[in-house]
Amino acid sequence: MMLEELRKQVSHYGKQMLADGLTRGTGGYISVRDPETGLICSTPSAVPYPEIEPETVLVTDLEGNIIEGTGKISSEWYVMSQVYKNRPDINALVHAHAKFCTVISALRIDLPAACFSLPIAGGPNVRCTAFHSFYSQDLADDIFDKMKDRKAVLMGNHGLLAGGNDLDEAYSVASTVEFCAEVFWMAKCAGEPVPLTDEEVEIQMADTKRYSSKARF
Ligand code: 13P
Ligand code: ZN
Repeated sequence: MMLEELRKQVSHYGKQMLADGLTRGTGGYISVRDPETGLICSTPSAVPYPEIEPETVLVTDLEGNIIEGTGKISSEWYVMSQVYKNRPDINALVHAHAKFCTVISALRIDLPAACFSLPIAGGPNVRCTAFHSFYSQDLADDIFDKMKDRKAVLMGNHGLLAGGNDLDEAYSVASTVEFCAEVFWMAKCAGEPVPLTDEEVEIQMADTKRYSSKARF
């Protein structure tokens, strides 16, 4: 089996995403780029995560041609190909219908750094796109735009997309941003959340680097 290690990771994180309550049913996807060949390993479309084993994980090229694996390519292939073709810093993507990110995306607002760990996504906020069909190039374009200088984006009325240098990082960013969305929502219910200033965001980014490249918040 080609790219066995990466396909094991994709299968593992799909199951983890369900276990962590980060998504539901067949919603969302996991994908990773092999830095050597440039090939993409991703969960097949509309298959429940418990059924996705390493052999089932699709291996495709950047044009979406299936080389190995079983099933259909993701409905959001335009999103994946747009990000992988234009963001050399991103080698893995996690898309989840994470509850609190979806709540914030339904308000169509950017998620501010009301919690100290939010800058792990690359800046003082995680921006939100408009609503688009998940099969569309429009969604890919809007995501690409709003994800500039960030490792995450809220998809309007839909969910969360997180990226990373590898799958461990992309999953960690997804999990952290969902936690921050929950904190923001709860703070908003209780009063008016106070976001970090630009200077505090810089301090927090430096602290996270100093703490560990494998920071998991
Ligand atoms: P898949 O087509 O990869 O299953 O994607 C599901 C989804 O959440 C689309 O937004
Ligand atoms: Zn989705």
